[in-house]
Amino acid sequence: MKTRIKNILREKPLGETVIICGWVRTRRDTGGFSFIEVSDGSCLANLQIIADDRLDNYQSEIKQLSTGASVIIEGELKASPAKGQEVEVHATKIAVVGKADPETYPLQKKRHSFEFLREISHLRPRTNALGAVGRVRSRLSYAVHQFFQERGFVQVHTPIITTSDCEGAGEMFQVTTGKAGGKEEHFFGRPAGLTVSGQLQAEVYALALGDVYTFGPTFRAEKSNTSRHLAEFWMIEPEMAFCDLQGNMQIAEEMLKYLLADAMTHCPEDMELFDKFIEKGLLQKLQGVTEQEFAHITYTEAVDRLKKAKKQFEFPVEWGLDLQSEHERYLTEEVFKRPLTVTDYPATIKPFYMRVSDDGKTVAAMDILVPGIGEIVGGSQREERYDVLAARMSGAGITLADYQWYLDLRLYGSVPHAGFGLGFERLIQFVTGMTNIREAIAFPRTPGFAPC
Ligand code: ATP
Ligand code: MN
Repeated sequence: MKTRIKNILREKPLGETVIICGWVRTRRDTGGFSFIEVSDGSCLANLQIIADDRLDNYQSEIKQLSTGASVIIEGELKASPAKGQEVEVHATKIAVVGKADPETYPLQKKRHSFEFLREISHLRPRTNALGAVGRVRSRLSYAVHQFFQERGFVQVHTPIITTSDCEGAGEMFQVTTGKAGGKEEHFFGRPAGLTVSGQLQAEVYALALGDVYTFGPTFRAEKSNTSRHLAEFWMIEPEMAFCDLQGNMQIAEEMLKYLLADAMTHCPEDMELFDKFIEKGLLQKLQGVTEQEFAHITYTEAVDRLKKAKKQFEFPVEWGLDLQSEHERYLTEEVFKRPLTVTDYPATIKPFYMRVSDDGKTVAAMDILVPGIGEIVGGSQREERYDVLAARMSGAGITLADYQWYLDLRLYGSVPHAGFGLGFERLIQFVTGMTNIREAIAFPRTPGFAPC
């Protein structure tokens, strides 16, 4: 039975026989010995294996082992005299399972650029940094479910194929069978696409089950190549019945703090790697975020601040125009130096489903901005009044009949409700300090790029 390196390093069963299945990181020979560093991906640390010519394949195979080769090692766990490690394995058997030709294997001991690693996305999880992202991402995915399940939220699997384009903006990928040269009947009876958000369907379940959330893949044909947009990403979208904007802001802040703390508690070694090599001071920054209240201003105040700023912005600042990434980052990085919730945006720049405020000009929207990224959460209280919603939809050029199901929610037992979307990869960026979102997902999809 194999033992994971993670468990070996935690439990240190000295004197016991262990079996390790993993990949060679390095091999070093001295005299009649070889020191082999092996990783099995269960944790950041490697385990040192000591082999000598008592192994019958020592000369023929072990001394040829190179970076990337896969091995199964059996041996005794002993205290290590070497510095920087407590235990090592004295091998009694090493099976070379798969070789890796050092002439062609692209991952060598030196550090590779993330740009280069993206070209070999099938091998990059074998690097320390991308392996660590993989583990932290998995842990945080689990923590998302834990956070909501502990609070009694019900998970809804909202559809991936949809006939409603929630955000409007023409960012939807179309779904067709591709047959009949464009003359085909629509498979679903009308145009369909890949979901840009599970929100509208989550609202259906919130108005039946109370507090719900969806956490799934989301698709947007984003034309822009930025460090924070993907064409396929994962979104966490809670939706709460009997909840207003204040309640929405509270749960979003609580969730972000919970997730940061979870990563630091459960992935300490990986987080230290990021702190050391990816973003200096990361842990201190995240710790600070968990301890402080988020700042809070309205959109109108944000515009005032930006207008007074000494900084030259590329994009104009005017009440009624959307905040650009440079504006968001200035506010959170330079003015407040911590996460910032901006509320009450102009109705004209926000989608139809956001609740119109008493001033008639703004909606009960909220965006959470964080240093280094800008927007990480977008949400709102939803318009629960039938007439107001119908008017907003007509104004947006939407055919009401196509969304009668959505309007019906306001006809039968309508309640104030609210929710938000947290981009999972932007969260991973924030937690790991990775500057490009392409490192926050295993297989990034961006314009012109989807190799495997
Ligand atoms: P942005 O202005 O940054 O494009 P958005 O206003 O389009 O964001 P929303 O529609 O509010 O974003 O989506 C909710 C959340 O989903 C965002 O706050 C962000 O974290 C994430 N998100 C949106 N688009 C993308 C994308 N293309 N790739 C990765 N994450 C995204
Ligand atoms: Mn967008």
